[in-house]
Amino acid sequence: MTAPEVRIPRALAAPAPGWTTSADVIVVGSGIAGLTCALRLRERVDRVLLVTKTVLDEGSTAWAQGGIAAALHPEDSPEEHLEDTLVAGVGLCERDAVEALVTEGPKRVRELVALGAEFDRDAEGEIKLTREGGHHRDRIAHAGGDATGREISRALISALHRVIDDPGIEVVEHALVVDLLQDGADDDGFGDDGRVGEDGSGEGAPVVGVTLHVIGEGQLDGVGAAYARAVVLATGGLGQIYTSTTNPPVATGDGMAAALRAGARMTDLEFIQFHPTVLFLGEGSTGQQPLISEAVRGEGAFLVDAAGHRIMEGRHELADLAPRDVVARAILETMREQRTDHVFLDARHLGAAFLEERFPSIVASCRSLGFDPATDLLPVAPAQHYASGGITTDLMGRSSLPGLYACGECSCTGVHGANRLASNSLLEGLVFASRIASDIPARIAAGELPEIAVPTTPAHAGGEGAGPGALLDSSQRLTVQRAMTSGSGPVRSAESTASTARDLAELASLPPSTAEPGPKTWETTNLLHLGQALTELGRRREETRGGHVRSDFPERDDARWLVRQSVVVAPDRSLTVTERSMP
Ligand SMILES: Cc1cc2nc3c(=O)[nH]c(=O)nc-3n(C[C@H](O)[C@H](O)[C@H](O)COP(=O)(O)OP(=O)(O)OC[C@H]3O[C@@H](n4cnc5c(N)ncnc54)[C@H](O)[C@@H]3O)c2cc1C
Repeated sequence: MTAPEVRIPRALAAPAPGWTTSADVIVVGSGIAGLTCALRLRERVDRVLLVTKTVLDEGSTAWAQGGIAAALHPEDSPEEHLEDTLVAGVGLCERDAVEALVTEGPKRVRELVALGAEFDRDAEGEIKLTREGGHHRDRIAHAGGDATGREISRALISALHRVIDDPGIEVVEHALVVDLLQDGADDDGFGDDGRVGEDGSGEGAPVVGVTLHVIGEGQLDGVGAAYARAVVLATGGLGQIYTSTTNPPVATGDGMAAALRAGARMTDLEFIQFHPTVLFLGEGSTGQQPLISEAVRGEGAFLVDAAGHRIMEGRHELADLAPRDVVARAILETMREQRTDHVFLDARHLGAAFLEERFPSIVASCRSLGFDPATDLLPVAPAQHYASGGITTDLMGRSSLPGLYACGECSCTGVHGANRLASNSLLEGLVFASRIASDIPARIAAGELPEIAVPTTPAHAGGEGAGPGALLDSSQRLTVQRAMTSGSGPVRSAESTASTARDLAELASLPPSTAEPGPKTWETTNLLHLGQALTELGRRREETRGGHVRSDFPERDDARWLVRQSVVVAPDRSLTVTERSMP
């Protein structure tokens, strides 16, 4: 089955920028990654501009339940954390990135505590640590029982408020970044010689800023252009690409899509984590769905089918605490065999008092929807949860485009490989945002990130004559989500990915006049562009590994597929896919 050829435009159609601003560094996004980066940078560069799509605390960070993983216990070690991470990543983790994560992680978590984050503590005053899937030690620090992300977000935003009057930092809410501005971008966006690097990395023109749409007042209103020596994308995940996800509505992959269009290298996009235990609210339920954290299984809850048989027993040595991809696949197999759309999580034996104390948010959320974890079996099914791939970065968070950095869920540092280990994502955001905040000032001092001359007439993203791409009307969002879920979702095949690719190509070729530029349209078009790239990588990978499950290739194939795939939009706007063999 052949898939149609994909063409990704250089920029989204948008009104010409009506205003300009500038800073040394622009940080896009206010989750753990963006806030950490901006707070650290403001101590080291003259001016930081932090922009965020809606309000500061909207994003996946505030939804994180289980906690943050770090080898904090005296009997634990970074080496053991490294080992568990590598196992979960099924052969595709970059070892040096994982080493950075696990060795710097404990220090970064302690700094978060010093900043004001209050983690749950035991009677001796030590941070309480629990266990989640794939971890062989208790190493998950949590806050407010199951409200870890909310506490981390609160602490970081309080720290930001303490410096908000500092002229060195400007914060703009309701500011949606549309595209990246590149220096010397000619019609193809790849600089004068239009080269794609030998390794397919794409040697695109340097990034010098962003175009953004601000719902504001005074000078900053409507579409504008912001210039900087460096841009840090910390825009989070792409969960809204599927019909059901644990991610909040802002997770439309905007930063990833803008980087893709600008010619940045993207890696591991096919590895999507579907969380095994998301409350099942019925077939027609779409958008963000309530998550039942892995920590509930960590405390002893287990999965059963409708007849009460335990699903995970005998499937993995860690049973209900096996890595997420293993548990999700077991649930999907059970659902297929028993022709049902959900299984059950049994937490009843933990008792109301314990559940209410340890998981107050989850219990409240379930009860508000008519399920009591203390007395009812909870219907659960896998739903999209985490994007393991994203904008390719090196160990300092640098992307393949000069001047462009990425951290947090929108980035791909190589830490997660084919499957993220539970609670490693908050830690990744923390560690790599800090690395970026060291790298940028050092490079400014070394003259490697020159000051940007702000043009008097702000440029269009994509350069003059770029012919901005057609937009997809927001009324098509569900069509994109359905195509992605049925063909590029938790279970894929040659046939299903080809069918999704055709559906998406059809949407991409709809007449441009049907859609008006605006936030909802830009988000929907971002979902389309990322869906096309993700589907192409999923179509090619003929094996099952981590978050990529192929019904027609159900086994892992190390002889052929111990490789990481990257994709770059080439000068002719087609997708160039390259492979890198793992040692
Ligand atoms: C329900 C749930 C539970 C989770 N539990 C855990 C857990 O227990 N432990 C763990 O480690 N991880 C967990 N995760 C994953 C983790 O929360 C995320 O991976 C992590 O918070 C991502 O942080 P981030 O800073 O990269 O992105 P986010 O926190 O998602 O922030 C992204 C930011 O970018 C902004 N943004 C997006 N697009 C634009 C744009 N175009 N212009 C401007 N701004 C933009 C958003 O508004 C937001 O401010 C969970 C995720 C969910 C959804």
